[in-house]
Amino acid sequence: MDTMHDVLVVANWKMNPPTIRDARRIWSGTSRGAAVTRGVRVVVCPPYLFLPELAAELKKSGAVALGAQDLSPEEAGAYTGQVSASMLLPYKVTWTILGHSERRALGETDEFVALKVRQAIAKGLSPILCVGERERSDDGAFYTLIRTQLEAVFTLLKRKDIPKLTIAYEPVWAIGKGATEAMSAAQLYEMALYIRKILIERYGRTTTNDIRVLYGGAVKAENARTLVREGGVDGLLVGSASLDPKQLTAIMRAVSVQLKS
Ligand code: PEP
Repeated sequence: MDTMHDVLVVANWKMNPPTIRDARRIWSGTSRGAAVTRGVRVVVCPPYLFLPELAAELKKSGAVALGAQDLSPEEAGAYTGQVSASMLLPYKVTWTILGHSERRALGETDEFVALKVRQAIAKGLSPILCVGERERSDDGAFYTLIRTQLEAVFTLLKRKDIPKLTIAYEPVWAIGKGATEAMSAAQLYEMALYIRKILIERYGRTTTNDIRVLYGGAVKAENARTLVREGGVDGLLVGSASLDPKQLTAIMRAVSVQLKS
């Protein structure tokens, strides 16, 4: 069972691995790691095609949940290449990443991402809304950009649905890089605080208290603990390191330790 005290670790496999055999191996290593790590909730987001087989392995009370990497804002129809929430639900998908920078780079606007978030919530999926700037300038314009990305979603949601959000702050310039190029914990702390301030200003503490703010971008075993502990976030979104179950397990351990100290 997921509780707010669990640190959330979201594994975004992207368009990996190349075969279902590899997917099975990564999945079982990840599940084993999650089963022996306390205080961590793991969400694995594989490519759609691997979902049926991985769903069959999913344990009811297990520490791992399944997520999609994207979702159509529509129910059905002439939307070539897209996948609807109703198609995902039979495969025990309970989460979905939305607005990832790699999708925004293909042309997804803030408004389109907002429609997807609304659809996810309508279908009972937990949306992981990705926000993040492509670059940083000295004038702090990136703060305004993050606010704009968030506001677009707030505009479409009913107040009662706000607590269902999870926000993943992912500076695009850090994604896919090595551990040394991740954001510093001090910079992250400022941004996490800023996101919380926006939430509280608009909806108050009671409504937003349970919203998790995650960090993503070059998270590895060696920087995970500092990012969570000193960066003031409630979890991590992990890309390339999530394809190595040993490394992902080390990340889970690193962040679970911070709960106990
Ligand atoms: C991502 O793409 O969401 C991500 C965090 O990637 P990486 O961990 O590889 O930087």
